[in-house]
Amino acid sequence: MRGTPGVAMRILLVEDEVTAARMLAKGLREVSYAVDSASDGGEALYLASINDYDLIILDVMLPGKSGLEVCRDLRFGGSAVPLLMLTARTSVPDRIEGLNTGADDYLSKPFDFRELVARVRALLRRGPALRSEVIGIADLTIHERVRRVQRAGRDVDLTTKEYALLDYFAWHPGQVLGRAEISEHVWDENFDAFSNVIDVYIQRLRRKIDDGSSHKLLCTVRGEGYKLCPVPAEENV
Ligand code: CA
Repeated sequence: MRGTPGVAMRILLVEDEVTAARMLAKGLREVSYAVDSASDGGEALYLASINDYDLIILDVMLPGKSGLEVCRDLRFGGSAVPLLMLTARTSVPDRIEGLNTGADDYLSKPFDFRELVARVRALLRRGPALRSEVIGIADLTIHERVRRVQRAGRDVDLTTKEYALLDYFAWHPGQVLGRAEISEHVWDENFDAFSNVIDVYIQRLRRKIDDGSSHKLLCTVRGEGYKLCPVPAEENV
């Protein structure tokens, strides 16, 4: 097998359609990759947390957590594993969304298996991905490497904690995040669940990023938590 780039590479295949998953796994094994399969997002995140994969092939349309959410969660958790997204969608905004959430490449279904293998090899050669350096949500821009935040081109000065909070929201745009979830990802184990520290930080962050803008990015979802609204609330139905 010398000279075969696929040797000793372990792949996680995330696809809920049983027949497609079985065929892909079989084909990938035939070209010498070790393949684990997951049929939903939760299982994918679990397997990715306990195994060190060289590549993840991720279907966008999954029951429960979508491929885009899985991708975001992996990247937010600091994973740099190369990610190839499989999508049935062909519209440009969806592809851009896939790449913006941290996928390294995408392949539209239906695809030729040889093309999948070619993409897999190209990604494996490239090695671990760098986490995307710039996140853009509406007119908010986060330059992650230098931790610089701008709203409508104006610099927003944030403390380390405010930045971490905003960054967490930015990795889950449009998703309602409850206090428990926020505390788990942004605060450490010394977090006091009975304090109102999250609400205080949200207010501060909101003042800094939303004051003076008609489009309020940081929205409260009563009884549930908060979310970052990529589109103004009145259009966000
Ligand atoms: Ca699917």
